Amino acid sequence: MSNATIDWEAVRAEATDALSRYVRIDSSHPVGRTVETAAFLGERLAADGIGSRIYESPEPGKVNLVARLSAARPVGKPLLLSHHMDVVQAVAADWRFDPYSGEVADGYVFGRGTIDDKGMGIMELMTMLLLKRHNVELKRDVIMLATCDEEIGSPMGARWMVETHFDDLDPAFVLDEGGTGKRGFYDAGDAFEVSVSEKRMVRIRLVARAEPGHASMPWHEAATHRLVRAAHTLLEQPPEDRDTPAVAEMISRLGGDAARREIASQRASMPLLHDTVSLTMLSGGYKINIIPERAEMSFDCRLLPDTDERAFVSNVEQLIGDPGVDVEVIDWPDTAPSAAPWDGALFEALQEACETFQPKAIVTPSICVGGTDARYFRERGIPSYGLVPGIFTAEDLKGFHGLDERMSIDNLVLGTKIVHAATLRVAGAR
Ligand SMILES: [Zn+2]
Repeated sequence: MSNATIDWEAVRAEATDALSRYVRIDSSHPVGRTVETAAFLGERLAADGIGSRIYESPEPGKVNLVARLSAARPVGKPLLLSHHMDVVQAVAADWRFDPYSGEVADGYVFGRGTIDDKGMGIMELMTMLLLKRHNVELKRDVIMLATCDEEIGSPMGARWMVETHFDDLDPAFVLDEGGTGKRGFYDAGDAFEVSVSEKRMVRIRLVARAEPGHASMPWHEAATHRLVRAAHTLLEQPPEDRDTPAVAEMISRLGGDAARREIASQRASMPLLHDTVSLTMLSGGYKINIIPERAEMSFDCRLLPDTDERAFVSNVEQLIGDPGVDVEVIDWPDTAPSAAPWDGALFEALQEACETFQPKAIVTPSICVGGTDARYFRERGIPSYGLVPGIFTAEDLKGFHGLDERMSIDNLVLGTKIVHAATLRVAGAR
């Protein structure tokens, strides 16, 4: 089937309506319920004769969905199109529209999840529907996976599916979120950043303990004071920049040193170059005139894919070097380091599709500075790529876990075209 036979105007209307309806189903945390979102996707698939299975996790209300288009005579393992159905919370009072209204206005669909990650879900859903409607002959199965719990580390979602139902998936490659197309970030022009790996998270807590005392008689070793000194040392330590292979390739594709300076100067991209440390929680004390015996601070640290987490923590201990301040690890990374190649069949198919529909854009490997479901597949050696294939501006990307999250209808259609074309390339028989 060629793209010419598809009525993209009809796809535009259908995808817009589907995303708007999908967003209206509140699947936000802390509840993170996905029964209704899975039913919604299941019904849309069933209307075109695509069967799906709901996997009920041990936690009530948290389900995953798997749908499959089968090849008559598969020549390889499946292509897995993955997205997560759960979304982060949104406080309605701060938004221009109700975050769960699915409002369509000014060429956008507004609402929590439009970028992260329900828009991607609709691109994948539309791809499944188009393949089925046009009776596309497949050389490998195409699986759609819709997960819960991604926003809280995937305990009942991708992690649980990979641990307990891997044989039902067993893909050759995975397409998931993790990278995007960007406009206005680089001198070189629009760029699709395809994530081939991601940073790994270590969460630590600094705990200072000392004798309590009266606030009228402070002393150098007070728990609060030594904790603040330790945190200051840690936060003021200049990060050590290092080009990991994917980022080195990205810098080269975006034009070299100038691109490196652009990456290093923007808050959203500078974490590509080094391990990061964010102070996120502080506590200690119970009365203003008492120096407490205990105070603590928690840090969310994101490590480059090839940073050794044990070495990182022992560096922190050495840097602080205060026996009165303990460094406790709250969470180690939950997966081993992993990276997908950028010369594999799915990467090349994505690159070709991006270049077909956005001829001026640069396509490059990158790493995701957050975490995604893809890491559970990459850890098993399955080439897994992160790309929500729209072209987003800084304004669009502010909605990512932020206010007035939106997806332009143009991006929804562009993304559908790219996911569909890349799928045809790796899974179509012709
Ligand atoms: Zn996401």
